[in-house]
Amino acid sequence: MATYKDYMLFDKLPQTWCAGCGEGIALQSIAAVLASTGYDKHDIALVSGIGCFGRVDDYLDLNCMHVTHGRALPAATGIALANPNLHVLVTMGDGDGVTIGGNHLIHCARRNINLTAIIANNYNYGQTGGQYSATTPTGSITSTSPYGHVEPPMDICKLAAAAGGTYVARATSYNPVQMRKLIKDGIYHKGFSLIEIMVACPTHYGRYNKQGEAARMMKLMNEQSITPEEASHMTEEELSNKIVVGCLVNKERDDYYTKYHKIIEEEREEA
Ligand code: SF4
Repeated sequence: MATYKDYMLFDKLPQTWCAGCGEGIALQSIAAVLASTGYDKHDIALVSGIGCFGRVDDYLDLNCMHVTHGRALPAATGIALANPNLHVLVTMGDGDGVTIGGNHLIHCARRNINLTAIIANNYNYGQTGGQYSATTPTGSITSTSPYGHVEPPMDICKLAAAAGGTYVARATSYNPVQMRKLIKDGIYHKGFSLIEIMVACPTHYGRYNKQGEAARMMKLMNEQSITPEEASHMTEEELSNKIVVGCLVNKERDDYYTKYHKIIEEEREEA
């Protein structure tokens, strides 16, 4: 039986992420999930963008494509439509997938493209020096908001759900067991699936915001985590420092490819 090791490129290690970064946990989880699916490597395509989590493709023994900043989803859309038999995964960070590439995320969800987007949210642009992104919490200190960030943060899962995403879930790097289950369910889902993974960035976000070392940041994420059921009884104010983890949306709707080809078939029958 395959294990995560069969999907890894061990000669590329050690990885370049900082000590204590949560992204290595996400990488191992993705490899473990792929091993558990039994998918042939040649039936998987992984597209990544720029940023710390964009480095995932360096360590996976898969057909990978590393594209420009914010443009992983359009490239993955082309792959998914050209070859619907492939299992298409897209790995991005919050700066790449939601800030620079936010428009693509909206339209990918709206079109219900059959792919799985995995977004690591570390609350900042980690790779380029800790600048604020669209998910940086209000009041946070970053390299570009030294007196406190003035903007409200974007909720990635709410955005994807509102745009029409048919599978939306969130996990933290504190809980890789839950993370794996949600990623696997997302990969098996027919249509657009998005899994947001909250990752600790001790080097920038944690240091600027005095959250302590990596272990303390992980513990904090766990303390903040609540279920969708618990969240349903809480006010907006009570939810402001919580992380709602679990499956948030899971519904059926024809994906883009299926719908497009249904129309072609109908037109052929009428011709
Ligand atoms: S900068 Fe932050 S997110 Fe990037 S590798 Fe370092 S700890 Fe991880």
